[in-house]
Amino acid sequence: MAARTLRIGLIPGDGIGKEVIPAGRRILEALPASLGLKFEFVDLKAGFETFEQTGAALPDKTVEVLKSECDGALFGAVSSPTTPRKGYSSPIVALRKKLDLYANVRPVKSVMTAAKPIDMVIVRENTEDLYVKEERTYDAPDGTGKVAEAIKRISQRASSRIATMAGEIALRRQKIREGGASSIHKGPLVTITHKSNVLSQTDGLFRQTAKEALAAARFSSVAVEEQIVDSMVYKLFRQPEDYDVIVAPNLYGDILSDGAAALVGSLGLVPSANVGEGFAIGEPCHGSAPDIMGQGIANPIATLRSAALMLEFLNEEKAAALMYAAIDANLEEGRLLSPDLGGTAKTEEVVADILRRL
Ligand code: ATP
Ligand code: MG
Repeated sequence: MAARTLRIGLIPGDGIGKEVIPAGRRILEALPASLGLKFEFVDLKAGFETFEQTGAALPDKTVEVLKSECDGALFGAVSSPTTPRKGYSSPIVALRKKLDLYANVRPVKSVMTAAKPIDMVIVRENTEDLYVKEERTYDAPDGTGKVAEAIKRISQRASSRIATMAGEIALRRQKIREGGASSIHKGPLVTITHKSNVLSQTDGLFRQTAKEALAAARFSSVAVEEQIVDSMVYKLFRQPEDYDVIVAPNLYGDILSDGAAALVGSLGLVPSANVGEGFAIGEPCHGSAPDIMGQGIANPIATLRSAALMLEFLNEEKAAALMYAAIDANLEEGRLLSPDLGGTAKTEEVVADILRRL
């Protein structure tokens, strides 16, 4: 079998991004040769420090190289200035736009030996809904003060492609489970989230389009259910074990994914991927964590899982499954844990333990 070479952009960004992205590189390099995978890495700049040095938070070169040379990327974290700085805006938001990374995918998983094990993934639409940022403010005609309004835009195209991606993720998760990964689910399930009882046109369109997309023959093994977002939050917190794949419009997905991350105890565990056609950027959910930077104690697992997730979207499920298994084994044994999980291990020791298991 000819080896496949994947070229991966590395964007550490700020703060602990510089400590965890090298760990992401190392786990990819440590994958067994029998997988027939090779990696080339390109170091790229973005973030607040880059902004201070160059005047651009996302240099054109970074975008160019990602577009023209890379198969995927790992993005660390960027700090945002506490007081807004002229000309500074989030480079990851810009990257999502420039590369049309229309889905934000966030798996939330606990150890399977937990009292209430959790193993779900939230698939958030990432291009429209209230995030089109079309707002306006005007004076109330009756003189009672100002009024502000925002457009919530939902399209069939975006709803259909995000639901299709959710269905594909559900099938792939099932495949990875059948490959021996520990899990609590019996079969693939997609839960469509909306508020169409109130917003019958916008959320109604999302709901209807998602249902149609998931009715496709190739998803015949996937169970599909729907839930109104508010009652879903209640259930998500009471019975998180019931959820497999959740698909949501942008705003609900944003809120649900932060809430779900709280269920597993540390931001340092939760990965994400920004996904478009044939391209994925793995990104830990945490920020630059200035309070712990430079101490070598950042939990690398969110980044290691983000690297695996990126590989899933580059169709390297086998490699991803091996990485997940090594990470789960480290957590289940619970001997070498970073301080955010109550342990005393350094970033380095956690990485070494996981690489050994690979
Ligand atoms: P930013 O502005 O970059 O988002 P922040 O101050 O909001 O920075 P976060 O990175 O969002 O910080 O982290 C919130 C809290 O979680 C902090 O106390 C941080 O130390 C902790 N934390 C985040 N990521 C990790 C990690 N990988 N390992 C250990 N602790 C973490
Ligand atoms: Mg933060």
